[in-house]
Amino acid sequence: MLIPLKKHIKVLSVSVLFFACSPPTTPEIEPMKIVDHHTFAKPEIAVITHLNWDADINFNTKTISAEATLSITKSKDAKEIILDINGLSIASIKDENGKGLTFEIGKEKPFHGSPLTVHLKNNTQKISIRYSTIAGAEALQWLNPKQTADEKYPFLFTQSQAILARSWVPIQDSPGIRFTYNAHVKVPEGMLALMSATNPTKVSDNGVYDFVMDKPIPAYLLALTVGDIRYQKLSERTGVYAEPSVIQAAAYEFADMEQMVEAAEKLYGPYQWEVYDLIVLPPSFPFGGMENPMLTFATPTILAGDRSLVSLVAHELAHSWSGNLVTNATWDDFWLNEGFTVYFEQRIMEAVYGYDYAEMLALLSLQNLKEEVETILTGDHPEDTKLKLNLEGRTPDDGMTAIAYDKGYYFLRLLEEKVGREKFDAFLKDYFTSNAFHSMTTEEFISQLNVKLFEKNGIPVDENLYNEWIFGQGLPANCPQPVSDRFTNVERVVEDWINGTTIEELFTPEDLMAQTWSSHEWLHFLRSLPEDLNKEKMAKLDAVFQFTYSRNSEILAAWMVLVIKHQYNSGYENLENFLVNTGRRKFLSPLYAEMAKTETGLVMAKAIYEKARPNYHFVASSTIDKMLDWKD
Ligand SMILES: [Zn+2]
Repeated sequence: MLIPLKKHIKVLSVSVLFFACSPPTTPEIEPMKIVDHHTFAKPEIAVITHLNWDADINFNTKTISAEATLSITKSKDAKEIILDINGLSIASIKDENGKGLTFEIGKEKPFHGSPLTVHLKNNTQKISIRYSTIAGAEALQWLNPKQTADEKYPFLFTQSQAILARSWVPIQDSPGIRFTYNAHVKVPEGMLALMSATNPTKVSDNGVYDFVMDKPIPAYLLALTVGDIRYQKLSERTGVYAEPSVIQAAAYEFADMEQMVEAAEKLYGPYQWEVYDLIVLPPSFPFGGMENPMLTFATPTILAGDRSLVSLVAHELAHSWSGNLVTNATWDDFWLNEGFTVYFEQRIMEAVYGYDYAEMLALLSLQNLKEEVETILTGDHPEDTKLKLNLEGRTPDDGMTAIAYDKGYYFLRLLEEKVGREKFDAFLKDYFTSNAFHSMTTEEFISQLNVKLFEKNGIPVDENLYNEWIFGQGLPANCPQPVSDRFTNVERVVEDWINGTTIEELFTPEDLMAQTWSSHEWLHFLRSLPEDLNKEKMAKLDAVFQFTYSRNSEILAAWMVLVIKHQYNSGYENLENFLVNTGRRKFLSPLYAEMAKTETGLVMAKAIYEKARPNYHFVASSTIDKMLDWKD
């Protein structure tokens, strides 16, 4: 599909629709309306600008009761404001004078929740909604003490991306709508509450905490976590939070955080969110990390003990620019968040750990990408291999694939290779600065790229680039190909082993002691092993390298796929252990998928899942439910 250039120019001023505070910059251009399929909100009629959240967190009932006061800006004859809710129990809605406002809750739509329409009076500028969350609210995960590291206190965390914020706050839940927020939160005494905002570093005496986020953010970045949590400062503006027994390991693992922030600033401009903290959550957290502003939420599976999996921190930190500053306008433009972030993450890793190291990560990303492209192309939605998606009527979660991340990354890497790093960096720095706190559609990005990268540098625009990479399916032939000598060496070792050289000949005891390979090389080693590996060969590898008991979650997860594939029974017990105690979807999906390939495997998968499911967040269990055809 070819998109005529003129159309791209038309969307330049589109963000003014969503930001009542910013004046139109190009009045002569008629703005094109952004269609976000995943919100009921009509921001052109009435839009929220600030949230004041007063909440009581009740671990006994596993519910939050709260009052959400929303400041609104509306058009002259607006009679109503439409919010998104998903399963909230609404008690009352009042205006700023304490007068009741009428409202109705519309029909529920699968994946979307329901519209909450509040009828406004002429002078209404604020509405206060008293409500509570329901059992099973999709964003919330309530853990009992046994599911935490220290087993003393219960734990709560939220995961709002993509459209789950509406299951704990009545809000206009679109990435194109931004607001600031304040919160006053009451939790059981002895517990610490943290949000995507200015945060306390100590447990309060009365369980009450106040929060401020004075920069406008979209709803998917609303976040809350409550637990037995400690803080350790790492530098003036960075620090880690974790449960008491985890805090030391976390502080060790993330010691390079300040260095990463500095590297990122050097690349694309000042860090805009004052502090950068990270919390290590209990293992059921469904993602590697979530870039909640000021406080990244992270999985404990990156605590490898040797700082080998910290590229995840670089990734979440990079989101402080790509995603949190310049935000995808809709979930169809998700690649703008993730592709840019993987590119930026790579650049941070290169700056801190060197080019060779970053190229190994790039190659792993290419392996993921190729695998995902193949899977999606042979599935029901081959069009999901386009960068620009159309997820109308579907859950935005369907777009969270390697396409957005890795195809996005390779497209940007191709642009860098085409124009040279210097010009590309200048473009990106300006992109993050001039679009800060705004949202971006793919079409507007293309328009800016044409003007500010190509035309500015006298380079002809190549429409094929967009047609193949953004609007076309699959992986284009001109995909950049990273080269890593370290990976070539791994491939040579695997080949020699296949051809009869013994492990003892390939790895001397000194090699093994010195642990000369990084976890990325081990990952590549496991991924490069031949298809026809038998149990004896698996046992031999395991005896030497102890993969079944690896402390590195990436290596363990890759090994466990082989355990299932080659029916290596000695690994089964730890496989079950891993699946019951880890909720990170990236690890769960390939393992359950591999088991589901055979009849006996499927029986095993279901038996394990029955035990493991209560430990998973909705985000993970909804994926595995579908995979195993599970009925709750
Ligand atoms: Zn990301």
